[in-house]
Amino acid sequence: MTVRLDERQRAMLAEMGIRWYEPLVLADAERRDPATVQEPAPDLARPRARPAAEPAVTRTAEVMVAESSPVELMGWDELRQAVAACQACQLCTGRRQTVFGVGDRQADWLVVGEAPGENEDLQGEPFVGSAGKLLDNMLKALGLDRRHKVYIANVLKCRPPANRNPLPQEVAQCEPFLRRQIQLLQPRIILAMGRFAVQSLLGSNDPIGKLRGRVHRHGEIPVVVTYHPAYLLRNPADKARAWDDLCLALDALGRQPG
Ligand code: SF4
Repeated sequence: MTVRLDERQRAMLAEMGIRWYEPLVLADAERRDPATVQEPAPDLARPRARPAAEPAVTRTAEVMVAESSPVELMGWDELRQAVAACQACQLCTGRRQTVFGVGDRQADWLVVGEAPGENEDLQGEPFVGSAGKLLDNMLKALGLDRRHKVYIANVLKCRPPANRNPLPQEVAQCEPFLRRQIQLLQPRIILAMGRFAVQSLLGSNDPIGKLRGRVHRHGEIPVVVTYHPAYLLRNPADKARAWDDLCLALDALGRQPG
């Protein structure tokens, strides 16, 4: 079959630098012999059929909000206030503001990034600037936008100085906030974007390239690993792989109970 995308979806894929007619996720036999493939054409409004040989889930990450933590009992507003006032790690000293998260609190989709950068620190919202624009285009290709059907959050709520990598103790201090966001949101699918999101959600230090292409679990919630949009801006050749990851997530979402 051939891929059937409407004009809007084609335009979004073009924004991502992806040719719309490229085959999407292929069954194993098709991967071995792409010359023979006549790829089915999934309608993006509907989940695609699950490949018969798709590997099962890999790992369940331990939910790390301690039962004794008051964070575990917080509602959205209280949690946002707690983040805004947090001084649990050294990152509080250099931030302009905390970056709590944005989106639809009834969303099926949760996108988890790493940490605020300069623009996020200025605006108080995750994924802004060029990387945010690319994420928005990726979401639009799925028929989503950052205010509807999606919630977007980072592992860290404060910007590391000079955009350095988060330190393990900073991640450990901040993780309970993300855990509580996940508990409150109860998403049906999580997109883990980038190494630190993966480490936090799956407890894995494996590289993205080794983890993507299959469905993992955070508790009972399916997790699909993909590249961070900032990485894709530096490595546009991997945008097609990111599109494959989005299709995999769409497929995994379709297998979840509604
Ligand atoms: S990064 Fe997280 S733990 Fe550290 S001060 Fe900010 S909100 Fe608190």
